[in-house]
Amino acid sequence: MPQTLAASALQTYLECPQRYRLQYLEQLPRRRSGSRVLAQGLQAALTEYYLRIMQSSDCRPDLSALFDQVFDGRACSDSWEEERLRRRGREALVRYQQLRASQPQHLLAVDLQRALQLGPVRVSARLDRLEQRANASLTAVLHRTGSRPADATAAEHNVAAAVIQAGLSTDFPDARVKVEQHHIQQGIVWDVTKSPDELDVWLAELGQVAARLAADEEFPPGDSSLCCSCPVRRHCKVRPKGGGN
Ligand code: SF4
Repeated sequence: MPQTLAASALQTYLECPQRYRLQYLEQLPRRRSGSRVLAQGLQAALTEYYLRIMQSSDCRPDLSALFDQVFDGRACSDSWEEERLRRRGREALVRYQQLRASQPQHLLAVDLQRALQLGPVRVSARLDRLEQRANASLTAVLHRTGSRPADATAAEHNVAAAVIQAGLSTDFPDARVKVEQHHIQQGIVWDVTKSPDELDVWLAELGQVAARLAADEEFPPGDSSLCCSCPVRRHCKVRPKGGGN
């Protein structure tokens, strides 16, 4: 039974216990995908960008140039894919920089971890940046750099956002804590803050999910609509590719 778990692992279990087993317990290799290479490059560029702003508040680095520096072209299948992904990444970051939400109002921290006990497991989550906003809220920003579109159900059932909100509310009991997801490729900002009552209910549900995970021996499949984007589908015997689901 795991003693500690990343929020992303619990999220995976929530969506498909079978995928959790293949990815985290058996540690089978995930499918190489251009979108994951792009997402990693965007994440690295944004972290570097806000770290530099943290070090000097007057500094406004060129985000697209940073992306070009950190993007790992060796992970691409060929030069054509590399050029295509670089172009998509630069375009996404230019769009994101035009959003007001991309400009930190008062940056307090970058790349911070928070952890919370959920049932039998301690779950950790990472926030990309923490800001003090003009409206006096303490706002945690989670960058979402993948191509999966934002949707209300996913935002509502986000594990990392709940861990972050609960952790910050404990650390800063007098602050008005907000959590935002910034979907970089889509140029969308989602406020995923829950009311205290909603947060309590969701954390209690997650505690039960963590308890199920700790005791699970079957690892049943999850919602079949997620299979088409599953990075370990080639290892899945429950719903193999071309198996009719
Ligand atoms: S293919 Fe579907 S059922 Fe199998 S591990 Fe992936 S998401 Fe789960």
